[in-house]
This record gives sequence, C-alpha cells and structure tokens, in this order.
Amino acid sequence: MPLRRLLRPSKPLVKTAARISAARKWCGQSDAPVVLVPTMGALHRGHAELICRARRAAGPKGKVVVSVFVNPTQFGPREDFSRYPRTFRDDAALCRREGVDLLFHPSPEEMYAPDASLSLVEGDLSRGLCGAARPGHFNGVCTVVTKLFNIIRPDLAVFGEKDWQQLAVIRRMVRDLDIPVGIIGYPTVREDDGLAMSSRNRLLDPASRKVAPRIHHALTGVVMEAEAGEFSVQRLKKGLMKDLLSIPGASVDYAEIVDGTTLQPLRKVLPGKKGRVLAAVRLGSVRLIDNLPL
Ligand code: AMP
Repeated sequence: MPLRRLLRPSKPLVKTAARISAARKWCGQSDAPVVLVPTMGALHRGHAELICRARRAAGPKGKVVVSVFVNPTQFGPREDFSRYPRTFRDDAALCRREGVDLLFHPSPEEMYAPDASLSLVEGDLSRGLCGAARPGHFNGVCTVVTKLFNIIRPDLAVFGEKDWQQLAVIRRMVRDLDIPVGIIGYPTVREDDGLAMSSRNRLLDPASRKVAPRIHHALTGVVMEAEAGEFSVQRLKKGLMKDLLSIPGASVDYAEIVDGTTLQPLRKVLPGKKGRVLAAVRLGSVRLIDNLPL
C-alpha cells in the first residue's frame, strides 16, 4: 500500500511494524521531531490533551504518532485484559480530529513473536505502589514501550502524570538504558467533579461513578493539610486512609506519600522535597489510581 494512502486523514491506520518503519522513514525526511504518544486506546480528553502537547513539541513540521495497543504482557492473569475497553473506531476518529499524523495499531501477534524470550526487568521503582499489587506489570510496560520506541524511533514521547509510577519508571528506563528519547510528563486531566479521566471510568457502575471523585477529594485534603503545616506523613496518611475508607464500596490497595522521583516513602513532608501522594482504590471490580504533588 503506498505510504500516501496510509497517511491520508481519512485512513490514518498503519497496522504493522513494517509499515510504521516505512512511515517513520517518511517522517524522518524532515529534521523536525517525531513525537510519540503511547496509549492502550479507549481514548478520552486526557489522551487528546497529551496529543496536543505532542503537537506543540513536534512543531508545525514535526510528526505526531499515537500508538493504540492493549499490551497483554502488562496484565496479570487475574486482571482485566479481556474486558479492557476497546473502542478503536472512536479512537481513530479522535486521532483524526486531533491531527495525528500516524496511528499505530498493531495486533498482539504482530508485536510479540510466539517464542519471544526476551523482556526487560525493572528492579527498584516498581517494587511498591501499583507494582506490589501487579507483579510484572512494569516489566511489561518497559518492554512494550522499548519496542514502540524501536519501531517508531521518536525523538520525544509524552506520558501522563496520572500514571505517576509509570512515568517515573519510564524516565529511569531511558536513563539507565541510554535510550535517546526525551520524556515529557503531562499533568492529570480531570472531569469537572475532579475524577481523573481514565479509560477504566467507563467500567464503573453508576453508584461507583458517583463516589469516585472522592478519591481526588481525599488526596486534595492531604495537600491542604500539608500546606497548612502538617508535615508528619504518619498523620497525613492516617487522615487519607480514613477519607478513602469512608467512600461507599471502596477498598484501598494503597495510600502512600513518597519522594516523587525515587518513590521511596517519606517520613516528613517538607518544602522542596517534591513529595507525591498516591492512592489506588477499588470500586467494585474497577481499580482506580490518582496522585497529586505535595
Ligand atoms: P492509557 O491508555 O491509560 O495507557 O494511557 C496512555 C497515556 O495517557 C499514559 O501516558 C497515561 O498516563 C496518559 N493518561 C491517561 N489518562 C490521563 C489523564 N486523565 N490525564 C493525563 N494523562 C492521562
């Protein structure tokens, strides 16, 4: 298929790694940057803002590439891989509206050889927080992001702060493996009621959706207390736990206050420490995460 056809706005689908590398060659003809936004699809306004950020970074002559791939290797055996929302037609429409230059949508078979025997292992940042409840998750993330980087060879890639631990792991990965891709973090995009936008929000039943913004309110409470002079992490966490557990139907996976870069637990919240408060909460069978800077 000629490249021009693949890039036509009405048909921006580039399905295989071979095609994307041809497209990448085409992108590479200009000196302007190629900027990648990796996603698992079910795109929402949060993703759209990441794409706008990518466009700003790419500049008028640069190229914005979005990948939509629900990566099986980052889901545990009892996780929601099969029921993860897949809305590819809508995703393609959003990408078209946002002026995306290439949309990469490979199948798991295209991405992983049946006898694939190599993957990446992250051994520090992924021990706690989401990594504790999801063993192997960040190894899967590192592996797929590296593969996407190798296929598309972007200059820059945009990741959301909503997945703070993921952003920290990716920054560490490009540092430790000398991967020549600049990482741009983008602040969390929220619904009007404060709920962090997430593809999983559409899996919430109405009662859970109604109370879900209280996760953000609980985190905001910690920020306000810290701003008012409470520096004890023990006391801040106690209040946070109480607020989260008072959400009807909620069970708390974790509620932590850590250094935003090393993800090590803090004992005190002090100005300039760049702390981060993070929580993962299950509402019914849906696991939601959120975080704020301290
Ligand atoms: P996902 O499709 O959920 O894997 O997300 C793809 C990218 O979008 C990741 O870098 C996420 O951190 C980012 N993202 C998802 N939701 C939001 C949000 N509400 N605000 C900012 N970034 C987000």
